[in-house]
Amino acid sequence: DTPQLYLGMDFGTSGARFALIDEQGTIHAQGKRDYPQHLSGNTIDWTSSWKMSLFLLLEDVPISLRPFIASISLDGTSATTIMVDSATGEPLCRPFLYNEACPDALPVVKSFAPANHTVCSGSSTLCKLVSWWNSHNLNKESALLLHQADWLLWHLHGKLGVSDYNNALKLGYDPEVESYPSWLLSQPYSEVLPAVQAPGTLIGHIKEDVGEKLGLPKNCAICTGTTDSIAAFLAARATQPGQAVTSLGSTLAVKLLSTSRIEDARSGVYSHRLDDKWLVGGASNTGGAVLKQIFTDKQLEELSKQIDPSEPSLLDYYPLPAVGERFPVADPKMVPRLDPRPESDVEYLHGILESIARIEAKAYGLLKDLGATQLKEVFTAGGGSRNEKWTKIRERVIGLPVNKAIQTEAAYGAALLAMRGAQQMSQ
Ligand code: ADP
Repeated sequence: DTPQLYLGMDFGTSGARFALIDEQGTIHAQGKRDYPQHLSGNTIDWTSSWKMSLFLLLEDVPISLRPFIASISLDGTSATTIMVDSATGEPLCRPFLYNEACPDALPVVKSFAPANHTVCSGSSTLCKLVSWWNSHNLNKESALLLHQADWLLWHLHGKLGVSDYNNALKLGYDPEVESYPSWLLSQPYSEVLPAVQAPGTLIGHIKEDVGEKLGLPKNCAICTGTTDSIAAFLAARATQPGQAVTSLGSTLAVKLLSTSRIEDARSGVYSHRLDDKWLVGGASNTGGAVLKQIFTDKQLEELSKQIDPSEPSLLDYYPLPAVGERFPVADPKMVPRLDPRPESDVEYLHGILESIARIEAKAYGLLKDLGATQLKEVFTAGGGSRNEKWTKIRERVIGLPVNKAIQTEAAYGAALLAMRGAQQMSQ
């Protein structure tokens, strides 16, 4: 009695994962593959590696469950860009990775894009496109730009040239009016821009040969994807305006579901569209990386046990792993403050955890000042979410309930997107 299942895949920075869920959100299977490191000359052939991981993951899905998969979606790293031949889908050059900067293109982009637009960053998808366009002469007109997620999904549905508005944000697409702005359409490379749909929209059914080979149903739906960090937010199932997810990994990142769109380029705050709402996000340089510089994970656990979270710590730090902060204070010259160090390590850790909690509260405060929906509830993901004492400290400092998110895997969020696509189809 297997119910209908929804498959999500996540192509993150270090590897690929899948999650197979039912309508209730129960996981029926999950798995992970590291990227095989194919060499082409001296460099890693990333596109082959991602494509291979895609099919390895599909083969990892238990064969007995595959006939029940109603739909598939997947996420990729934001701003990972592949220029392909618009006739064959074959990459025309190596991909531009998410964190790669194209400083040559930045002044060009800044000359025609509105000041402080998301594309005005050296690693934006648009800078990658401009850099490619200006350094290639052949067959430029028959090229097509795809994001990592778009290109991988194409192997499943076979329709070239479709993206989603989360991936396309750093390309310059405006999800509010659902089109590329005129300052982008007037550029010579406007022909290479992909068509854009809402994330989780049906693009087509599984290609016949692929479906038959893998034992997937003929009408298995393939839906547009999203970026890895949005998929991770979706996993936490925060669906009401005012609900937020704080990610306490190496850095501290906050994402708040809001009814209004917020942009503040100075502090790196921008909004992704999620249906009729906006996902407002900002990232601080503080976070677990600082803790890791001072304590081992084992020490963190032992010392935390001795903290009384109901007692406010009066130690006022600004923990940073290096000089510079972007959000909630934009100050590239901000110096880390971790003094004075008390005799007791318990007190020291308490002070650091409390100081990071104050930065988190300030981050949500700034989003509200910028016009976002009032914060109501916080879910937490990342290594710091394991620390229950910290959660208690944060509840006291923020003044709202803080809970560990039950699901935090981006692959789970991608599976929810696949479910959304299948449900839209049956409506
Ligand atoms: P990344 O952003 O690198 O993926 P993770 O989500 O894996 O990070 O979280 C790792 C971080 O969690 C480390 O920087 C570590 O200091 C922190 N961490 C691990 N255990 C604890 C704990 N018990 N309390 C607070 N922080 C912790």
